[in-house]
Amino acid sequence: MQNNYDFLIIGQGLAGSILAWELSQRGCRILIVDNAVTSASQVAAGLINPITGMRLVKNQDIDFLLPAAKSYYQNLSRFFKHPLLIEKPMLRIIGNETEYQYCLKRLNDTSYQPYIENYTSPPDKDFLAPFGILKQKQTGFLQTKPLLADLQQYFVQSNSYIKTQFNFPDITLYEQKVNWQDIEVQKIIFCEGYQGQTNPWFSWLPFQPVKGEILTLACPRKLPDYLLNYGFWLIPTDEHTFRTGATFDRERINTEATQSAKNTLINALNKAAPTIPTEQVINHQAHIRPATLDKQPFLGCHPKYPQLCIFNGFGAKGSLQIPWHAQRFADFLMADQPLPETANIKRYTSRGHGCGFYTSC
Ligand SMILES: Cc1cc2nc3c(=O)[nH]c(=O)nc-3n(C[C@H](O)[C@H](O)[C@H](O)COP(=O)(O)OP(=O)(O)OC[C@H]3O[C@@H](n4cnc5c(N)ncnc54)[C@H](O)[C@@H]3O)c2cc1C
Repeated sequence: MQNNYDFLIIGQGLAGSILAWELSQRGCRILIVDNAVTSASQVAAGLINPITGMRLVKNQDIDFLLPAAKSYYQNLSRFFKHPLLIEKPMLRIIGNETEYQYCLKRLNDTSYQPYIENYTSPPDKDFLAPFGILKQKQTGFLQTKPLLADLQQYFVQSNSYIKTQFNFPDITLYEQKVNWQDIEVQKIIFCEGYQGQTNPWFSWLPFQPVKGEILTLACPRKLPDYLLNYGFWLIPTDEHTFRTGATFDRERINTEATQSAKNTLINALNKAAPTIPTEQVINHQAHIRPATLDKQPFLGCHPKYPQLCIFNGFGAKGSLQIPWHAQRFADFLMADQPLPETANIKRYTSRGHGCGFYTSC
């Protein structure tokens, strides 16, 4: 282990891992510090879905986020020699008349064509779908947990990973650099997930964490080979196992799995797809999405201490958003390229009140 690095990255969730990979591929000397507590990334379903919500809205940045994510995960799949991005069509059960009207609108909109296969009446009695089904394409899921394990092993082998808790008083700030314990780095990049909201240098950013719960179930009958969306989603992870989720709870921000969320998920699935058995729950997990007030990520460096930076706030869409943003953040750190305005934390420091409004700046 050396005692001099370009970047110290705090957190080995999906954000820290992909950013560390990107920077190391560009020749930077990086060191990751992670406390190895179960992360949101390890619980997440990894779903990638270009069209979401009751109004079936296309993600406004999908046309560049999706190609970047796909090619990133395909390259990682080749490097680690197993598939990490599983592409499968998604059947979206149209829930009511309003959704049906939006569905018709999207079917007639050419900009939605790359993401929509067709609209049909339910194929058989497997679904309760009186308003029909929209078949989406370019959907799938990231095998996040195996990817994080691959990357962790890679970073351990390249002496770039330390398993420990990062404590803020261990930092000493200098003019052009920063020390963590006896290690000297140019910049520290915080990728702490929802725990970023208690970071003393960045707690002024408006995080809005959202708890989510997910079930994993065994299914005696062979599962269909597509993703299902009925407000919640079903992802077959193999022929006889599937995951279903995820709940959204902005009130109770903790990682406790609850009976009420389990009931909600099971009842919703029973209603949408009554022929899929739900008796055998084999795992029930809860974690916290690092969501933000304006639903955009937090990228940038502290206005007063530019040695301290943040790469966080990917909310419910980390799998889709992180690769493209990691590339832009690396461009910013290494080539002084401007950050995307929507993600730049300057949107909060340049609005008059700025971080000076908050005590911790
Ligand atoms: C139930 C659920 C379902 C989800 N489903 C999806 C989905 O289908 N698709 C999708 O794209 N996204 C989904 N997400 C969101 C996804 O999890 C996030 O967008 C993404 O994983 C965030 O990654 P992150 O690295 O920012 O945070 P995290 O994964 O939380 O990683 C942060 C890491 O930093 C570490 N850390 C924090 N503080 C310290 C410290 N002081 N010292 C050392 N280590 C520290 C933590 O232990 C952790 O390992 C879901 C989230 C949840 C909770």
